[in-house]
Amino acid sequence: MAITPLSWTDDAACRDSEGALFYPADSAERKEERLERELIAKRICASCAVREDCLEAALARHESYGIWGGLNEFERRGLLRT
Ligand code: SF4
Repeated sequence: MAITPLSWTDDAACRDSEGALFYPADSAERKEERLERELIAKRICASCAVREDCLEAALARHESYGIWGGLNEFERRGLLRT
């Protein structure tokens, strides 16, 4: 089965960013490190033209980790519960 690329990813503000900003480098990441990393990633998301598409896609597939659409996994789970 062929994998269809998502068209909105062409306009993603994070295209040239380090993936490590959007995902924890390892499970031993301290809370302060996580908050700082996520803050930087969320700033990139805040200026992203496809933020809503990204968030919708992450919610639809119950993305378990990382920053998508400006929200981390806990914030996305909160949205799905409402
Ligand atoms: S909203 Fe954030 S994670 Fe999603 S494409 Fe834009 S910059 Fe990347």
